[in-house]
Amino acid sequence: MLDVPKFHTDLFTASGWTSGGGGTFATLNPATGAPLAEIAAAGAEDVDAAVATATETLHGAWMAVPPSEKGALLYKLADLVERDIETVAMLESLDMGRPVGIGMVLVSNFIASLRYYAGWADKINGESIASYDYFGAATHTYTRREPVGVVAAIIPWNAPLMILGWKLAPALACGNTVIVKPAEDASLSILHLASLVEEAGFPPGTVQVLPGHGPVVGEALSLHPGVHKISFTGSTEVGRRVLRNSATNFKRTTLELGGKSPQIVFDDADLEAAILGLAMGVFFNQGETCAAGTRIFAHRAVYDAVVEGLKGAAEAQVVGDPFDEATTLGPLVNAAQRDRVLSYIEKGRADGATLVTGGAAPDRPGFFVQPTVFAGSNDMTIAREEIFGPVGTVIPFDDDAEVLAMANDNDYGLAATVWTRDLGRAHAASAALQAGAVGVNGWSPLGPQLPWGGVKASGIGRELGYEGILANTEAKTVTVVL
Ligand code: NAD
Ligand code: MN
Repeated sequence: MLDVPKFHTDLFTASGWTSGGGGTFATLNPATGAPLAEIAAAGAEDVDAAVATATETLHGAWMAVPPSEKGALLYKLADLVERDIETVAMLESLDMGRPVGIGMVLVSNFIASLRYYAGWADKINGESIASYDYFGAATHTYTRREPVGVVAAIIPWNAPLMILGWKLAPALACGNTVIVKPAEDASLSILHLASLVEEAGFPPGTVQVLPGHGPVVGEALSLHPGVHKISFTGSTEVGRRVLRNSATNFKRTTLELGGKSPQIVFDDADLEAAILGLAMGVFFNQGETCAAGTRIFAHRAVYDAVVEGLKGAAEAQVVGDPFDEATTLGPLVNAAQRDRVLSYIEKGRADGATLVTGGAAPDRPGFFVQPTVFAGSNDMTIAREEIFGPVGTVIPFDDDAEVLAMANDNDYGLAATVWTRDLGRAHAASAALQAGAVGVNGWSPLGPQLPWGGVKASGIGRELGYEGILANTEAKTVTVVL
């Protein structure tokens, strides 16, 4: 095991590291259940103070930094995260339980987002638009793309830095100031990042981090009249509340919520590649993945092979210590999440699904659940609700129209995967699926260039790519009568 770094556990504000008005709270190591750190919790008054400083910095020190230099600061931050990549990947593993090697991949995505938007910082341009005359006089009209203002980023525990990158990088590149609210279960990597923001030399107040409780800090941010945009990633239930709260002052609201993504294996698929991808879709990050492909539709002709293949992939997972290099599946984030997943497994059994493999918590300390595969149908609870654990259900189908209808018969619409060698079928299915992203012959390709977000109960708005620039700016139309 690597050396454990010093934990940052305080609030990070314009005046540096401070304790919060909300007391402290404990974060646990999910691999053992033992206390890991005591973190300062922000109170509502800390939110007020942070919004006041973020507002001042927005119109002052941060606005005064020329666009190219904003980009240079983002590049510098990326280099610092890269320097500390092992530390931050380790902090996330300690805090939320995933194997460190997978953490390195997700932190690399964070670095990539910083660099992608660093390049955008001095390329955010308005347009010149031909328009009507004004009482016979010609006009000249152009648009300015201005920052939205003070942005609040509310982050879940399953991929803290990666998801923060989708919000922080475009917000800063567009000239906004940002207040970050990490999840209670995983604040440590984001607090380390705050120390790198400080080291990179961003003007104080440009980025602030307020750890604490969702119903206190998240609630205050989503209600605050000084916050202009909320970018929230988390559960559908809390997302609905954030959207309602944000109506106080019509905040721009981006919601990245839950999913129950279908993976469709047609009878002409490359089965070996498909099974590899299906397994990743179900077991990556312990299944604590918004895009988890937990509804696996297999054509009747390949159904048995898919069930057998997925069973093999589940049984090949190495469940264990996130710091052991052989481990592919760590513990779930906390005891409540483990119990929730186990209760879904019980529901699966009660609904009459066939347990193919797994189905229990291994006998060891920590919050582990065995990789689990069911054979079932699309109307069972395990195929309808987000489980957020290593549990997948394989469902048979007979033809294309039937499977596309089943795939769309769900409240969520985040991602989908299609496995086929038939190009026409791949495009037709991609068009028909109600989802924010479709992967053909690959599970969940993700990059800062690719817009990300959901439809239906999976959220509203898009992050990443040029969509991320549009979501972090307001267009102002200026018309000059000549
Ligand atoms: P959660 O909704 O419980 O918490 C998310 C964040 O919201 C946390 O920081 C929490 O403290 C905060 N929060 C809680 N109550 C709040 C309130 N009243 N007002 C404002 N903020 C509040 O979600 P979670 O359990 O941390 O994360 C898992 C969920 O996130 C899953 O549903 C998963 O699908 C979703 N997710 C979605 C994406 C995506 O891109 N669509 C990515 C990752 C995770
Ligand atoms: Mn934790």
